[in-house]
Amino acid sequence: MIAYGLGLVALLLFLGLFPPTAPWNERFLTPLVALGGGVFLLRHRRQSWGLGLLFLGLGDLAWTLEDLKSLPRGLYLEFPYLVGYAALTWALLKIPGEKPRLSLLLMPLALLGLASALKPELGIDRIYTVWDALLLLLLLLRLEPLFQEGLLGGRALWGVGFLLFLVADMAYAFLEAAGGYPTGHPVHLLWTLGYLLLALGVVEEQEGHASFLGQALALGGLFFMPAVLLNDPTPWSVRLLALYGGLVGALGLLYALHLEWRRTEEKRVRWTRFLEALARLSPRVTQTLSPEGVLLGALGAAQHLLPQAVGLEVRGRRGLVGERTPHSLLIPLNGDAAYLYLRTPPEEPVPQGFLSLLGERIKQVLKQVEWGTLALTDPLTGLLNRRGLEVELPKLLALARRYGAPVSVVMLDIDRFKRVNDTYGHPVGDEVLKVLGRILGASVRREDLAVRYGGEEFLLLLYGADREAAKEVVERIRYRFRTQRVEPIPYPLTLSAGIAGGEVPEGEAQVEDWILKADYALLRAKETGRDRVTLA
Ligand code: GH3
Ligand code: MG
Ligand code: MG
Repeated sequence: MIAYGLGLVALLLFLGLFPPTAPWNERFLTPLVALGGGVFLLRHRRQSWGLGLLFLGLGDLAWTLEDLKSLPRGLYLEFPYLVGYAALTWALLKIPGEKPRLSLLLMPLALLGLASALKPELGIDRIYTVWDALLLLLLLLRLEPLFQEGLLGGRALWGVGFLLFLVADMAYAFLEAAGGYPTGHPVHLLWTLGYLLLALGVVEEQEGHASFLGQALALGGLFFMPAVLLNDPTPWSVRLLALYGGLVGALGLLYALHLEWRRTEEKRVRWTRFLEALARLSPRVTQTLSPEGVLLGALGAAQHLLPQAVGLEVRGRRGLVGERTPHSLLIPLNGDAAYLYLRTPPEEPVPQGFLSLLGERIKQVLKQVEWGTLALTDPLTGLLNRRGLEVELPKLLALARRYGAPVSVVMLDIDRFKRVNDTYGHPVGDEVLKVLGRILGASVRREDLAVRYGGEEFLLLLYGADREAAKEVVERIRYRFRTQRVEPIPYPLTLSAGIAGGEVPEGEAQVEDWILKADYALLRAKETGRDRVTLA
């Protein structure tokens, strides 16, 4: 930026010392800018562009010297120009182009340049006007991405620079043919600005930013072009060329700017949606405390920014949602490896912040799920604890109410458990609890709740089961428990149970009542000899 500022000051000083119409300005400013631009480009490793500008600058300088009678006239003076043109052509050819659509509007300029081949009065300059036209045709392809991909910035700058240079060059040839090039004609300013924008734009495109100064100069140059060339000795064909080129170029640039702004706006909206979705991502919103829910939510959030995302996987225990594809992005998630799968490879580089943000949030919410699970489950048996019951009961009741399903409440208690503890020690007692916990977990269905209600008392809530069905379930549990040996207890273990429940409960108070009733039925089972099931 400082360099640009200094350059601008130098330019203004130069123009102040030598007004645009001063011959010195015309003779030296243009070659100096071209030579400076060439060196600038070479230093940024843009060899073809740099050599192009350098040789054009040398050509301009040679003509200046010839003009001052320091160099003898001769065809050899064309040599630097030819090298410069060849280098610029090569530089353009190396850039991939697109099929032109909007940029075709510049086509008439190229046709005009080609038509100049038919004008013998242009003399040797016809080589350049035709070459200008060909370069313009090559340029069209390279300008199209401005409208399709948003490569605004550097490319727009050098595109405009090229256009100014080509138009100025053609104008010069026509001016000369129409009675000799008039000294002091400001066409060389277009030329100079063209060189400047070429050098600036090529480097800015490489560095991926667009300076405000460059954009202002480009737009200014395009409006300046017709103004300069509407001057008097200019032939009408050139005036039209300038007016048309300036107008189309400026409108194109403004339109590309508009498209770029719209793309930025869309991107901003997508980022906002993504961030909002990430913020909403929480175990509560996903309804259940399942990691899958979290991953589904995170995938949905990611799709706001990358619509082609189709799967998300946290390697290891948490599994995969959506589908796995060959195009994956690694999500940093220290410890585990996570992947976002895309249907197609990303068109533009995915911003680093996106993946790390996604990873960070996934990690947080999975952690919440883990803690939530810990808070709601009993560590010894893995069944729900009473807090878990409080969380899950409303869901079960809502389901039962919606489908008019009955619900049964079962209270279970291990028979003479104290004796196990007293005889074989607490660790063996714990093992018995674990065994029963496993049996209970395996004996109920997904919709049911199995709760460690107290020390060795368990509560089951059976969805869609009336008391008879519940009794069958409990009988099965009793059978499994009795046949499951726990070392070193030599005798079979038994349990007693009480069952209550019935039709769709209206409120949770009803369930509390059932729990009391089941507890009472359990007491009766104990009183009547244990190892049995009693209905309330
Ligand atoms: P009953 O047939 O009447 O049920 O006789 P019981 O011996 O099983 O009597 P009760 O149900 O009152 O026994 C509760 C015992 O459960 C007391 C306690 O030592 C034991 N207990 C409670 N929680 C745990 C635990 O986490 N681990 C172990 N090992 N024992 C526990
Ligand atoms: Mg007991
Ligand atoms: Mg008990």
